[in-house]
Amino acid sequence: MMLQSKLPNVGTTIFTVMSALATEHNAINLGQGFPDYPMDEALTDLVNKAMKDGYNQYAPMPGHLALREAIAQKVQRLYGTTIHPDTEITITPGGTYAIYSAITAAIGQGDEVIVFEPAYDSYIPNIEINGGKVVRIPLHFPDYSIDWEAVRKAITPRTKMILLNSPHNPTGAVLSEADIAQLRSTVAGTNILIMSDEVYEHLIFDGRQHQSMLRYPDLYERSFVSFSFGKVYNCTGWKLGYCIAPPAFTKEFRKVHQFNCFSCHSPVQVALAQYLQLEEPYQRLSGQLQAKRDYFRQLMQATPFEVVPSFGSYFEMYSYAGMSQESDTTMAMRLVKECGVATIPASAFYVDSVDHRVLRFCFAKKETTLEVAVERLRKIS
Ligand code: PMP
Ligand code: GLN
Repeated sequence: MMLQSKLPNVGTTIFTVMSALATEHNAINLGQGFPDYPMDEALTDLVNKAMKDGYNQYAPMPGHLALREAIAQKVQRLYGTTIHPDTEITITPGGTYAIYSAITAAIGQGDEVIVFEPAYDSYIPNIEINGGKVVRIPLHFPDYSIDWEAVRKAITPRTKMILLNSPHNPTGAVLSEADIAQLRSTVAGTNILIMSDEVYEHLIFDGRQHQSMLRYPDLYERSFVSFSFGKVYNCTGWKLGYCIAPPAFTKEFRKVHQFNCFSCHSPVQVALAQYLQLEEPYQRLSGQLQAKRDYFRQLMQATPFEVVPSFGSYFEMYSYAGMSQESDTTMAMRLVKECGVATIPASAFYVDSVDHRVLRFCFAKKETTLEVAVERLRKIS
């Protein structure tokens, strides 16, 4: 029997493809975004303790209350906004799930959603499976900034949502205050919603300030904002995140969530609630990651690759346009097979495979991993 596909244009995600190739060719994996260094033992100890203390049954559907309270306190400290743990925060099994649930709660047949390309690969299928129409706008190459004039021109009476991601995957671009001013004036007086993917919230560099939708009441009132504990606390395999949204949105979000996952891993939530109280561990994160970005950038100077600067996330793009005319997919295949280094071709983040001859590298790795990878990359010609 055959099943009529709801997502006929979707294959296996590039992250799975490249990680499988990395394993097959015994390559260093600078493709898929995950750290190869250990997470904080203080947090794993707290999870062990929570399990031993008996937190092994279902957590409440919206999430462990103490964790939601800790998140609300953090939001207050960082962004000066009061968020109610009962009505505005839902713990989810990862940021990807939070985005899917928000889009499912908000987007229906024929609703238009503005998406910037390059785009994280789950966004477009999430919209399409819900019957939404994707309106793609390219970010300016090479700084990957938003063309706000193009956004205003793309808005129609059917525009339901704008999807934002800062710090941005795959480019490391971040929203500026000027972007926020443009966004505010673009959506003012409309019913346009915002889906703001902020999973790299704390991973922001060079003294820049994260422009969360939570900072701006007039933007927050129309937003779903998604986060990932996995990304910021070096435990991507835990798949735990959360969605913050105003009460009326959260109510709809939870209708989707309660019949999908219902509630998330209990001991990890109990542990994170305590961990967030410890010493505001997120404060160290940008410095740690920035040092890795800088180290990798310095090492890469010995290769023919040219940096396209990143200001946040786990990632930095590098151009090989001065070295080769090959497509980015061909180059990525050659690197994994001939050099033993896996990367992600940037065209994978565009529907029409736009190819600027840049590759995405994940620098969230041990120094030795970065050193060995770059030693291998030096041999490319
Ligand atoms: N959004 C972006 C831009 C990401 O890079 C990731 C990382 N996978 C996610 C969402 C989802 O994170 P999680 O692993 O918590 O689902
Ligand atoms: N966010 C990760 C990345 O961009 C991958 C997560 C996944 O494999 N789905 O590499």
